[in-house]
Amino acid sequence: MEFCPKCGKTLTPSRVGGKTMLVCKKCGYQKPLEGEKLVIKLEKENVVSKNVAAIVEAEEAPLPTTSDVVCPQCGHNEAKWWTVQTRSADEPMTQFFRCVKCGHTWREYA
Ligand SMILES: [Zn+2]
Ligand SMILES: [Zn+2]
Repeated sequence: MEFCPKCGKTLTPSRVGGKTMLVCKKCGYQKPLEGEKLVIKLEKENVVSKNVAAIVEAEEAPLPTTSDVVCPQCGHNEAKWWTVQTRSADEPMTQFFRCVKCGHTWREYA
């Protein structure tokens, strides 16, 4: 409780020009209210670190297909094929097949 230094009347807090002032209702004396809470709006920085999950799909190499083979596992007659030089250059290439139906992989020596 504060009193007006001019007339001794009780000062009443009231909003004056956006600030809270202690105002004497008798003589019009005004003084800033001490300890007025300063509301500081802190804008929270919304830092969203997106966890971008890198979805790496194992892209299958564009392999040629052949229908001259029969899958030893499921009997399907279409398979992708590729050749791999296994040992030395003068040895025959190893031909691999992968069934397009069941994914079974097998090899045949050329
Ligand atoms: Zn006063
Ligand atoms: Zn198969």
